[in-house]
Amino acid sequence: MKKEDCIFCKIAGGEIPSKTLYEDDRFRVILDLGPAARGHALILPKEHAENLYELPEETAAAVMVLAKRMAAVMRDRLNCDGLNLIQNNGEAAGQTVAHFHMHVIPRYKEDNQKIGWVPRETPPEELEAVKEQISFTKTEV
Ligand code: AMP
Ligand code: ZN
Repeated sequence: MKKEDCIFCKIAGGEIPSKTLYEDDRFRVILDLGPAARGHALILPKEHAENLYELPEETAAAVMVLAKRMAAVMRDRLNCDGLNLIQNNGEAAGQTVAHFHMHVIPRYKEDNQKIGWVPRETPPEELEAVKEQISFTKTEV
């Protein structure tokens, strides 16, 4: 299903033109308009899902397979030195478009980008506490 007024639904469905790198029945892959580096692409599912929580598991699996194949294309054709997969969920995590998308970002030694986080000093008891809080068994997932 498409969502009214969702820009990525419109792009994925071809209503709004985009620099499309790939298309099949489930996905459209486009160039990001504000690329972090040369070749920065977005995998857009054609079915609307706001984020990872809403994404059907089958689609989630297919996104990763597609990302893996794209990684090889980018390495071979762009000669990039590395590659990031980034997927933001929620404003707090930096999501600005409320339609699931996976960033595929080729990286170059001299690209001067900073994609990352500041590691925090964490006492062992806090690591233990969070481990207890979010450990899970196969029957829980
Ligand atoms: P996020 O912050 O994970 O929600 O990423 C949204 C991304 O979509 C940003 O990198 C934007 O540059 C990109 N973007 C927004 N609108 C468009 C558009 N019309 N076409 C291509 N990329 C877009
Ligand atoms: Zn949408």
